Amino acid sequence: MAAPSQPHQATYDAIVIGAGIQGSFAAYHLAQRHRDTLLLEQFLLPHSRGSSHGQSRIIRSAYPRAPYTCMMPDSFRLWKRLEAEAAPSLYRWTGLVVLGPVGNPELEGCRRSLGANQVLDATVLAQHFPGLRLHAGEVAVWDGTGGVLFADRALRAVQDVFCRHGGTLRDGEKVLRIEPGAVLTVTTTAGVYRAPRLIITAGAWTGALVAQLGLCLPLKTLRINVCYWREKELGRPSPSRASPCFMALGLSRAPHGIYGLPALEYPGLVKVCYHHGSLADPEERDQTSLGAPRPDIALLSSFISNYLPGLDPWPAVVETCLYTNTPDEDFILDRHPKFSNIAPSTPDHPLLPAGHGFKLAPVVGKLLCELSLGEEPSHSMAPFAITRFPSVLQAAL
Ligand SMILES: Cc1cc2nc3c(=O)[nH]c(=O)nc-3n(C[C@H](O)[C@H](O)[C@H](O)COP(=O)(O)OP(=O)(O)OC[C@H]3O[C@@H](n4cnc5c(N)ncnc54)[C@H](O)[C@@H]3O)c2cc1C
Repeated sequence: MAAPSQPHQATYDAIVIGAGIQGSFAAYHLAQRHRDTLLLEQFLLPHSRGSSHGQSRIIRSAYPRAPYTCMMPDSFRLWKRLEAEAAPSLYRWTGLVVLGPVGNPELEGCRRSLGANQVLDATVLAQHFPGLRLHAGEVAVWDGTGGVLFADRALRAVQDVFCRHGGTLRDGEKVLRIEPGAVLTVTTTAGVYRAPRLIITAGAWTGALVAQLGLCLPLKTLRINVCYWREKELGRPSPSRASPCFMALGLSRAPHGIYGLPALEYPGLVKVCYHHGSLADPEERDQTSLGAPRPDIALLSSFISNYLPGLDPWPAVVETCLYTNTPDEDFILDRHPKFSNIAPSTPDHPLLPAGHGFKLAPVVGKLLCELSLGEEPSHSMAPFAITRFPSVLQAAL
């Protein structure tokens, strides 16, 4: 009989908890700077239990809020760099249409973020996106940088490059305990690791992990239905492969926004989702009662009938994903108020169309790397400070 294996024990320059897209990019930047880095993941990779799985995510420059507009050029540059390092293509250009009622503040913010006037009149819109209907009082804006990131491929690429730069990726190892100190100790289901710095990018599990460090983050996890809709006739004017991505903002019946991507995952099936869902515990996301009403899907069906008549108005495939949000719409990217060598991050937020952390992950990872190395961050961190939530501080100090 084989002897039971000993728990792993090792010391690193840095440990990152969570190998979703944010943690993988944080680890990638640390390894590029020659820091001996351990990236820990609770599930065997690849997995579909968090927020980074699936084939596609929108990337765009159009943003209603300035901090993210400022980060996008850096993000596009870093995605290109990863593409060059990893070889497979990670991005497909499609362009992006943003539509909504005239004067809607978010739509106006997007328009401003694009610089020159990018408003599309009905004729030009019909050329760009023949399957999409605009209604009276609505306007559309064109983001020529928009496109699709091949999400699963990108996640694998960033992890591969991390490992090529000498990083250690250990999957199937859940972090159970974190002991703070000048050198932190992280205990997993298979080992005990030490490092002078720690980054926590645990997605929907972040709140539970940081609670043991005295932090009470005001996070909410939402279960999102990821819906795919069949083209009535393949090749007819409808959002097919050549069509742009889109976002619909400020519609009274869909206050959280709707977004869509051309058919990619499944032939002839277009991804259109509502940017909202029901509260969920990440451990119990599949415990939905059969036959329970799904108001988001009813709302999407009505949107499809009115705006995308080339699609069948009932979903052909429904998958799930998780958003983890803060109450004020912005990320938390900061050091722990008491243990400055720990940096937690939460990369989604509500209200902006499309849970948006994926496209920004190269910059978020860079900022987390800079924070953990005590360097001057390359973008303003003020909007992402943990101190904007006073109750977090009271619990931590
Ligand atoms: C339906 C949907 C559509 C989206 N569309 C877009 C889009 O079009 N464009 C865009 O930019 N963004 C989009 N997003 C948002 C984007 O996908 C997320 O912001 C991003 O994937 C979050 O990555 P993450 O690394 O923070 O989280 P995750 O991917 O969830 O990674 C966290 C990881 O931590 C691991 N972990 C947790 N606890 C532990 C532990 N104790 N020990 C070890 N490991 C642990 C988890 O298993 C997980 O792998 C979308 C999200 C969803 C759900």
